[in-house]
Amino acid sequence: MSNTSAQKLDSIQNAAQTAFKAASSSKDLYDLKVQFLGKSGSLTEIMKEMASMSKEEKPLFGKKVNEVKQLLEAVYSEAEEALKKNEISAKMAAEELDLTLPGFARSKGSQHPVNMVIEEIFGIMSRLGYSIRTGPLIEKDYYNFEALNIPADHPARDMQDTFFIDKTHVLRTHTSPIQIHSLETEALPLRVIGTGPVFRCDSDISHLPNFHQIEALCVDEKVSMADLKGTISFFVREYFGAGLKTRFRPSFFPFTEPSAEVDCSCPICKGKGCSLCKHTGWIEIGGCGLVNPKVFHAAKIEYPKYQGFAFGFGIERMAIIKYGIEDIRLFPENDVRFLRQFVK
Ligand SMILES: [Zn+2]
Repeated sequence: MSNTSAQKLDSIQNAAQTAFKAASSSKDLYDLKVQFLGKSGSLTEIMKEMASMSKEEKPLFGKKVNEVKQLLEAVYSEAEEALKKNEISAKMAAEELDLTLPGFARSKGSQHPVNMVIEEIFGIMSRLGYSIRTGPLIEKDYYNFEALNIPADHPARDMQDTFFIDKTHVLRTHTSPIQIHSLETEALPLRVIGTGPVFRCDSDISHLPNFHQIEALCVDEKVSMADLKGTISFFVREYFGAGLKTRFRPSFFPFTEPSAEVDCSCPICKGKGCSLCKHTGWIEIGGCGLVNPKVFHAAKIEYPKYQGFAFGFGIERMAIIKYGIEDIRLFPENDVRFLRQFVK
């Protein structure tokens, strides 16, 4: 082995060992590694001298270079670990952590008031044995109108401004088609709540093109207006508060006979008169009636063996009355400042 090459290798080893140990930062240490062990580093350079060595010398020198390389890599790892430890300690010392400071509050999502009302109404009605149903949003004309005693030429169709999908399909204008689906497919007696979004071409401070309804249908042998009144009175007291009165005003709906509008004494002023009830002491909350025999006939239910009642409310209206909300358009806007008020 050429003495000069061996001496050079020794001096590289010594220089690298000293430099690695003396490095003051991880970055400096890495630069030194490149300088000694990198692709164009001192060790790679000295390997080139093997070209001029004899056959006997070459493997011996190669072996020696590898030993030096392994040794230097070990020294490097040790130095690197020591530096990292120091750097972490220095960082921790520099950044004083005050563990008593308050943390960052993350805002939590909450239930939409429409869903809160649906859940609350369903909670009350489930105690009377009702279970919940939904149904398709795009309805056949038959389920939305005809089976509910609203035939094609019936003037009642003018009462609702409808989004037509095509000649035989509409975006449902009310949740009443759910009643027909239940009557057609479920066993009697029946107590169901139909709920979900409904659609009408209407939009102003008190009307939305997309709002929500909830309605109840009870079908059994011997069901009367007295059962209907008792059920709604129970519901009103549970939903708005004890002591509130309920009254029926005669009305007309094609799918119920007789039909009535439902008023309850104003939950805000308890009947004394305020701006919400326009100083009448009464608030209109929805419609109701006994199921029209023509609806039973369409659903092939034996009448008068089976009779029934139905009543329905607008969900947004129920929330407006209960929480004193002034503009119905706040519901679909989903402004968090509005929604936050309902966080329980
Ligand atoms: Zn009032």
